[in-house]
Amino acid sequence: MRVINFSAGPSNLPDEVLKEAQENLFDYHQKGFSIMEVSHRGKIFEEVHFEAMKLAKQLYEVNDDYEILFFQGGASLQFAMIPMNLSLGGISEFANTGVWTKKAIKEAQILKVNTQIVASSEDSGFDHIPNFKFSDDVDYAYICSNNTIYGTQYNNYPITKSPLIVDASSDFFSKKLDFSNIAMLFGGVQKNAGISGLACAFIRKDMIERSKSKNIPSMLKYSVYVENDSMFNTPATFAIYMFNLEMKWLLNQGGLDKINEQNIQKAKFLYEIIDQSEGFYQGYAKKEDRSLMNVSFNIADKNLESKFLQEAEENGMIGLKGHKILGGIRASIYNSIDLKKVQILGEFMKDFAKKNA
Ligand SMILES: *Cc1c(COP(=O)(O)O)cnc(C)c1O
Repeated sequence: MRVINFSAGPSNLPDEVLKEAQENLFDYHQKGFSIMEVSHRGKIFEEVHFEAMKLAKQLYEVNDDYEILFFQGGASLQFAMIPMNLSLGGISEFANTGVWTKKAIKEAQILKVNTQIVASSEDSGFDHIPNFKFSDDVDYAYICSNNTIYGTQYNNYPITKSPLIVDASSDFFSKKLDFSNIAMLFGGVQKNAGISGLACAFIRKDMIERSKSKNIPSMLKYSVYVENDSMFNTPATFAIYMFNLEMKWLLNQGGLDKINEQNIQKAKFLYEIIDQSEGFYQGYAKKEDRSLMNVSFNIADKNLESKFLQEAEENGMIGLKGHKILGGIRASIYNSIDLKKVQILGEFMKDFAKKNA
């Protein structure tokens, strides 16, 4: 019996994806070996690898102005690779909306990049997305599209003439995006598109050009990844296989518009229960910036928190404890959590409020 898993990441995977992986784990499509056991240079794995890239680009409808790259080292390694590869020695601008942007800023500062914070919501505990405008002529402008801990999300990305870089780790492949305004979109895939061990980025070719002339170790250099189809060394083959299955699953669901529709419905359902609880539950993020992915809230009576978590678990629901920075409750309702599962949580929440008000 599988529980309903609201973990923030690594997180729930679609049943279909897990079952297919299980079926093929021991004997990959009757070939007599596991996909984990063969060379990344062989035809069998290469098919998986290039198909994963193709399907990912297809889902986002990304054109050939962009390269898709696979990395290890998580989204966090990109916090360092971005300044290494894309800084031109000028200014890099950041919107500071939480822990993940702070970490990205810190890495850029370690690398002696001139970092400017154009806006921050830190004073109010990162409970909203600030209003701001990036300069037109900086090396790059950086945002985090969905703030996993606080449950805030950009409704629309800022329009900017400077190259826009987006950490989309926690809303990756959750909706279509207008790439005409994006220079680089990246994320670890373990939240919404696969398992840990793989980070993925879409990078516009003029950004790749920047890295070419720079003196950077090979494994840290974007152009080396492009020249080697992200196989300069051994890639995370099993994580790429799982990502491939996840891309197929998303296509089978009807693609990103369809997934987005479901994501909107799911989030609406939970936020309505919070808002109609007469103060029993209190949403963390400002309403206009609420995340469709991570629903962070408190129980007004903090003493009830552990009881809530325990009873949720007794009812087959896990992963609801808020991030340690924030406390409270967080329900991560990524792509693979369907409306039915969210409704079960919602009914539990209503029932819990009624019994404990
Ligand atoms: C989880 C997360 C990260 C860190 O990802 P790693 O793959 O663990 O490095 C970065 N950014 C956001 C928005 C995240 O949610």
